Amino acid sequence: MSLISKKALLKELINSVQDVKDRSWPNIMIGLHVDYVDTLNSNSKLIDTDMEDKKPIILGFEGTAHTAGVAVVRGEEIILNESETYFPPLGGIHPREASEFLGKHFPTLLETIIANLPFDVEKIDAVAFSRGPGLGPCLRITATIARAISLLLKKPLIGVNHCVAHVELGRIITPAVDPMVLYCSGGNTQLISFLNGKYRILGETLDIAIGNALDTLGRKLGLPHPGGPHIERKAKTGKKLLPLPYTIKGMSFSFSGVVTAAQKLISQQDVADICYSLQEYTFSVLAEATERALSCTKKESLLLTGGVAANMRLQEMMQNVATEQSVEFFVVPKNLAGDNAAMIALTGVRMFEKRDFITVDQSHVKSRWRTDNVEVSWF
Ligand code: AMP
Ligand code: MG
Repeated sequence: MSLISKKALLKELINSVQDVKDRSWPNIMIGLHVDYVDTLNSNSKLIDTDMEDKKPIILGFEGTAHTAGVAVVRGEEIILNESETYFPPLGGIHPREASEFLGKHFPTLLETIIANLPFDVEKIDAVAFSRGPGLGPCLRITATIARAISLLLKKPLIGVNHCVAHVELGRIITPAVDPMVLYCSGGNTQLISFLNGKYRILGETLDIAIGNALDTLGRKLGLPHPGGPHIERKAKTGKKLLPLPYTIKGMSFSFSGVVTAAQKLISQQDVADICYSLQEYTFSVLAEATERALSCTKKESLLLTGGVAANMRLQEMMQNVATEQSVEFFVVPKNLAGDNAAMIALTGVRMFEKRDFITVDQSHVKSRWRTDNVEVSWF
């Protein structure tokens, strides 16, 4: 494809995304439907016949909550990975405002990606997107963009589970093969292990996620969003371990009580001590549950993934758990710990290899799509 047609395609892509942004979904869908209706239900026709030995090139979109991300990967190599993150001016993430943020930023992110692609746009083999779980308005805007671009490029569509993508990222970029996974993020906290064709959840939060717990206390302390990294910084100078609730039930756990108790200490205790104590209590709960899961499953490695995996104290505790249990410890790099589109595209590669595609008319989003409801064709 010549440079000119690459530019023309870019313009068309940007226009279609602009339509999405302007909420004129019907225009895009009607236009594309007429052009490519034949391809809608025959994704297999969209793949090059000489794909066998080639590393798939996947364009990925992340948009489940606060992060708008677009990435391109080839096989296991991340070629481009761009993102913009929404920081709510006040309080927690508002779903509609977050989705408007995504709609505003996807066009420019995509523009940057296409402009910097080291090969022709037509080399892209498929379009992967975060299909769930997440905030409905965010998922819908991301899915609409991915559908439109899949149809424009006439390439198959891949619906990726966001939580599974955090796990796959770790299995791809660290040496972990079949690990016990502790996935800690702003919206999810799960102990995940692969068994009989699916990722099973051995334990999980019974109320709020660990990241949400840290962010909630951060807000009450007047720290900027997200509070997690700020709590970590303050905790470094904390010395006194204040008594807080420690809630664990088997391999599951709960964090809302400990956050409420920590909030009650504000104005009575030193902020650094509160941050330090919250981290020590909540991370100890995670360590105990992880230790139990490791001894039950006899997995040979432990993988820490998700945004909270960037926390050095959590890493230190999980390293200790791994040492005690004589397993190897791996953690995703800080720049890929939080939500990103590279993990969606990398999971897309694995799904592409198994021709795990969805047609546009099957591609409704799944806001409550659980990790253990994903058919894992590629493990
Ligand atoms: P994710 O949902 O995977 O994008 O992760 C976002 C969450 O990670 C937010 O709740 C952040 O507060 C949290 N987070 C990011 N960095 C750190 C850190 N250094 N310590 C604790 N939490 C963190
Ligand atoms: Mg996430």
